[in-house]
Amino acid sequence: MTITNVIIVGGGPAGVGVASLLKQADISYLVLEKNEIGHSFLKWPTSMEMITPSFPSNAFGQIDLNSICIETSPAFSFNKEHLSGKEYSEYLHMVTDYFNLNIQTNTEVKTVHNHKGIWMVETNQGQFFARYLIWAAGEYQNPIIKDIKGAKHCTHSSLIKNPSKLRGEKFVVVGGYESGIQLTYDLIKSNKKVTLINPNPIDDKYTSDPSKILSPYTFNKYTEIKNSPNYTEVLGELESVTKNQTTYQLQLKDNSIIESTRAPICATGFSLVKGPIEKYISYREDGSPQLVEQTDEFYGQENIYLAGPSVRHDNHIFCFIYKFRQRFGVIVSDIMRKENYIDQEIDMLVNKWKENGMYLSDLSCCDTECVC
Ligand SMILES: Cc1cc2nc3c(=O)[nH]c(=O)nc-3n(C[C@H](O)[C@H](O)[C@H](O)COP(=O)(O)OP(=O)(O)OC[C@H]3O[C@@H](n4cnc5c(N)ncnc54)[C@H](O)[C@@H]3O)c2cc1C
Repeated sequence: MTITNVIIVGGGPAGVGVASLLKQADISYLVLEKNEIGHSFLKWPTSMEMITPSFPSNAFGQIDLNSICIETSPAFSFNKEHLSGKEYSEYLHMVTDYFNLNIQTNTEVKTVHNHKGIWMVETNQGQFFARYLIWAAGEYQNPIIKDIKGAKHCTHSSLIKNPSKLRGEKFVVVGGYESGIQLTYDLIKSNKKVTLINPNPIDDKYTSDPSKILSPYTFNKYTEIKNSPNYTEVLGELESVTKNQTTYQLQLKDNSIIESTRAPICATGFSLVKGPIEKYISYREDGSPQLVEQTDEFYGQENIYLAGPSVRHDNHIFCFIYKFRQRFGVIVSDIMRKENYIDQEIDMLVNKWKENGMYLSDLSCCDTECVC
């Protein structure tokens, strides 16, 4: 039986990023990826681009917002600010090849068990064993339509690959965050009529945190369409959807009814892919996994970590790459400590990661709001 030090599940930005730091720390690891590297990005709608801009600012200590690995910049590789999903997936391939990262593709993790401190990982390619497990399986492959009765009559926005090719004239979109506005924009630009249902006004800028309000990139798109005669915005929350022969009836929480001849499209987000590790997760009140703040280990467990957009601490949401990459170093330094690295070795790497946006342990700084 061969035991790797670390198994990482998932070859997206989180898995590839953590792998690059483990390599720097000279800790053996293996990334197991169900499909191919950057698979979620290849599944994005064709019109979708990264909303966080890329810029090759690394040399001045401001690493490209979309980099997941020191000394790399998607902006530099593609000469572009907003990469498509396909391009970002290519960036992940480039990083993997350049740094010769150890990633095994077409390997789906089916079950995970811990036996006497060793993680036994069952896959479609056989068993793997490790002392530490890093779960980086992302969210994109788990779309959610939560708390809506009759959700089976709805279509999740991630299933719509090319909005301009949708047949029909009128659409109802539920949810006015990034995906909902992007989809609405694409439909309106294709001369369709859209009713968008959202609990709050889209332009309510009550915080400067883009995890809670629209990014400037998408806000600009919203500004372009909000006065279009084809756009209707309804403030409310969808409670239930029923279907008779020809129409869908959408009942909102205030009991008002919207009728549609097409299934409502729910841009209601994603949640952690967690099947094989579900039994190791306990949850916060908001439904996110509870993690140990100092290490990002699952609460109450040892040597099993979460990396990626589902990381939450207090009211801090790490859903963007530039946010969750800052926890890569926290995980890897914890493993170094457990592997008895000397303090100077850990400090040297941690300082390098701090300077490059890959290590953030003091979360008090994340409360800062922009004043103008
Ligand atoms: C349309 C859209 C636009 C976005 N734009 C931005 C943006 O501009 N900037 C930004 O920072 N973020 C953006 N995001 C969010 C960003 O894409 C995600 O946060 C990011 O992909 C998360 O990375 P990840 O590695 O955790 O997950 P993923 O990229 O989803 O990677 C997870 C990987 O795990 C694999 N996997 C899953 N289950 C298993 C299993 N059982 N065994 C083995 N492998 C498995 C999957 O195949 C996948 O390759 C966007 C998201 C969407 C949907």
